[in-house]
Amino acid sequence: MRHQVHQEWFACRFFVLIAALFLSCAQASSSQEAFVIGSLRIAPGQALSGLIEVPAKDDVGTSIPVTVIHGAKKGKTLAAVAGVHGYEYPPILALYRLKEMIEPQELAGTLILVHIANLPSFQRRTIYYNPYDWKNLNRVFPGDPDGTLSQRTAHVLMEEVVKKCDALIDLHCGDGNEALIPYTYWMISGDKKLDDLTRTMALAFGIPHIIIDETRSKDIKDSKYLGNTAILLGKAAITTESGLLGRTDEEAIRRNIDGILGVMRFFQMIEGQPDAVTDPVWVDRYEVVYSQTDGLFYPQVEMGHYVVKGQKIGYVTDFLGRVKEELRAPFSGILLYIINTPPTSKGEPLFEVGRLKEGN
Ligand SMILES: [Zn+2]
Repeated sequence: MRHQVHQEWFACRFFVLIAALFLSCAQASSSQEAFVIGSLRIAPGQALSGLIEVPAKDDVGTSIPVTVIHGAKKGKTLAAVAGVHGYEYPPILALYRLKEMIEPQELAGTLILVHIANLPSFQRRTIYYNPYDWKNLNRVFPGDPDGTLSQRTAHVLMEEVVKKCDALIDLHCGDGNEALIPYTYWMISGDKKLDDLTRTMALAFGIPHIIIDETRSKDIKDSKYLGNTAILLGKAAITTESGLLGRTDEEAIRRNIDGILGVMRFFQMIEGQPDAVTDPVWVDRYEVVYSQTDGLFYPQVEMGHYVVKGQKIGYVTDFLGRVKEELRAPFSGILLYIINTPPTSKGEPLFEVGRLKEGN
């Protein structure tokens, strides 16, 4: 009995010694510094979830839930941002799962997960807009620290997330009213090195349809979009779309998770090779067609179908049921998304057509 106790004591001491050795080795191999975001401070080899505050002004203010997984090993800092539009659920659900999948001791670099960028929109279940100022968060970047709630949220995201990362994925999907096929925006900066990097990121994310997007403003004061803001600050960024119509389907959630893991593998943050797209469908022009009137939209073509220039895509009636406008395809291409619920307001999108690049 006494002998057995002694053995256990010895085994215990031995274990403590090994653990201490292991910890000191881990610390020695990591010259990483703590990562600071908002009021959160994350030591190397740790993961931490918390809130970044957007202080109240003339309104309620809000907070942004994040998780930072700060790897024990050095590497890139990648930000994955969900919920810029609060009714776009698959990216949001994907990040909560990813949070549990990444082991900080195994990670090289730092993963910033912005779980819900636009919490007021999520809580109030609004499409497009923040319910306190009725602005679209993804049109007000780089934001304004003295502005409305959306503008202040954009400013905090720029200061705390965009400026602190090397690369960023802005994860979207069809909004609560949008039927959408998965696709990625590859935003062209004009800097060849950066564009080559973002092209590879887009392929590593794994969605076959990739829009070559040369339409975004090059003026940081008018960057409008989160992804474009990152690009204009010299960060590698893509914007992805996967999911639709307020659903929470497994396929869309998986596509978001696999896409982020693919980009992490490309940046060598985790082991393995990305399952990159080998046969992408490039879209070299796109156009969103907007409603000219308030009323009801009747879609007549399904998402993903190929349409020809001039083809009728749907029509809008007023609230008395009278047809007010017919919407036609501006050019031949694929219907990337189309509104699938009746309400529409003047100036709101109805569908988006993408032209397939010759030689695809
Ligand atoms: Zn969106």
